[in-house]
Amino acid sequence: MNDSKQRPNLPLLGFAAYSGTGKTTLLEALLPMLTESGLRIGVLKHAHHDFDVDKPGKDSYRLRKAGAGQMLISSRKRHVLMTETPEAEADFDYLLTRFDTDKLDLILVEGCKNIAFPKIELHREEVGKPWLYSNDSNIIAIAADTQVESELPQMSINDLESIRDFIINYAKDFNPTSLSCQSKPSKAPAVCCDSFSPAGLSVTQGQEKILDSITTEQLSENVAVESAYGRVLAEDVVSPINVPQNTNSAMDGYAIRGDDLDQEQYHVVAEVFAGHSYDQEIQKGQAVKIMTGAPTPIAGDTVIMREQAVQDGDFVRFPEAKIDVGQNVRMAGEDLSVGQAVFTQGTRIEAPEMGMMASLGFATCPVLRKVKVGIFSTGDEVQAPGTPQQANSIYDSNRFTIIGMLQKLGCEIVDYGIIEDDQKKMTEVLHSAALETDMVLTSGGVSVGDADYIKLALDELGEINFWRINMRPGRPLAYGKIEQTPFFGLPGNPVAVMVSFINFVEPAIRKLQGQTNWTPVKANAIATEQLRSRQGRTEFSRGVFSMNEHGQLEVRTTGKQGSGILRSMSEANCLIEISPSVDTVKVGETVTVIPLQGRI
Ligand code: AMP
Ligand code: MG
Repeated sequence: MNDSKQRPNLPLLGFAAYSGTGKTTLLEALLPMLTESGLRIGVLKHAHHDFDVDKPGKDSYRLRKAGAGQMLISSRKRHVLMTETPEAEADFDYLLTRFDTDKLDLILVEGCKNIAFPKIELHREEVGKPWLYSNDSNIIAIAADTQVESELPQMSINDLESIRDFIINYAKDFNPTSLSCQSKPSKAPAVCCDSFSPAGLSVTQGQEKILDSITTEQLSENVAVESAYGRVLAEDVVSPINVPQNTNSAMDGYAIRGDDLDQEQYHVVAEVFAGHSYDQEIQKGQAVKIMTGAPTPIAGDTVIMREQAVQDGDFVRFPEAKIDVGQNVRMAGEDLSVGQAVFTQGTRIEAPEMGMMASLGFATCPVLRKVKVGIFSTGDEVQAPGTPQQANSIYDSNRFTIIGMLQKLGCEIVDYGIIEDDQKKMTEVLHSAALETDMVLTSGGVSVGDADYIKLALDELGEINFWRINMRPGRPLAYGKIEQTPFFGLPGNPVAVMVSFINFVEPAIRKLQGQTNWTPVKANAIATEQLRSRQGRTEFSRGVFSMNEHGQLEVRTTGKQGSGILRSMSEANCLIEISPSVDTVKVGETVTVIPLQGRI
């Protein structure tokens, strides 16, 4: 994502505001005051619409339209580089590199609200928009027409002298060695998303708290390679052999000496099939007919494919072939050599790993014990499928989505069914599940105002936190331990269950299983429809991403996003993640997508 370490060695300061606040007017008034103080200023402005600084009919315009991807036009007073970017808008950090920073003291940025770098928030009450500072830790000061309760420096939006002085001091205090901290200058207290909802946690904070409390399974066992799919390696693996064992032919053809390429014809002295060998040294003028995978004969280091050969009795010619020394030969140990590290402990075994273990001659793999997960659903309205639907009930879908996701992770599952809203019953099942399994998952009953049975049961059994995660869907989440066993109380809504599982349970299970080399895949995609979110929470919309004709990823939503609409998960191939500092994503802007393939 944004790597601020590569940013220019210059102070960078933005103005964050909703349109209508008067960013440009303010900047226009500030610039002469700043330049008067001796600062040399560059401005980066982001425009949502398509703009053109050129004029139809001008030479530069004509040359651009004729195909100049970059058009540099220069005169005595200025020069302008116009760069066409039909595929995608240039990246913020790339744009910063376009400045001639030797000739600047400060870069001011107008727009780019969603990108992390220090900003002053501009706010006018009459515009009627929410504040940004409480959800954006990049805001280091406020210029507004009203006061707020915040530790950030505050100025009047109409007091240009104070704003100027703030900027001058900011530029003066800029410390080039702390470039990587630019988004969080030490003089500004970090305001985090928490301040949005005092009892709430951001997604990352929730993930960190959970992962910190999970300890990896230690017990290991040996399983047959064919049964090892999805298991996690308990030890490093080192190759005991060379793969391939011998230098061999990559083609069906003829082996000759690399120092003997120019003969009119060669005498075919032997024919070698895979699994056999020709043990004599090949001589000048000789060829050995050889099959793919057969060891090349001594000195026979070059193979010409059969399609380029004309064999006549015991003689072969290569009339059309352009022969390079060493061609079509695979070297011994080319894939893996003796003693080479192959896998580290914590690697999850999938199809290629199964094949590689076998190719090293291993019939078994040392793996960590399977993680056993106990699950149940709660709620008097929840009914098991397979029986006629009762009045006022819904079929239990959560247990089945959870079972699917647990199967995908290679867990052993203990299904305790549906537990009625009865405190005694719930306490019993929770307690025995905690003793019998490595993790307990339930769904339903953790939202505010629910019948409190599971909460009462949990209070009795362990230290469970009831969190409000600043995310949608999936705000309520209970997490803690019962008898040292991690417990998750997932929300009841079917989509919230899946999104919470993906964000919190899956990373926890992978850590419990001992997998060390995993991070979820994320990518950037261009939004083809406007996406709404709310500041202060992470929004996970269900999306469908695909590649457009320019080879870029595009994403749309699956439509209705209610957290009870499980069909949206079925139609989606990704979650669209909109960070807490963003409220709306416009068409054409970039968003983060989390592919779901292989995860649900
Ligand atoms: P709760 O958090 O228990 O109030 O549940 C929130 C919503 O999710 C309610 O509409 C429940 O009926 C629904 N719900 C709870 N458990 C399940 C389940 N196992 N399967 C499907 N929907 C559920
Ligand atoms: Mg319920």
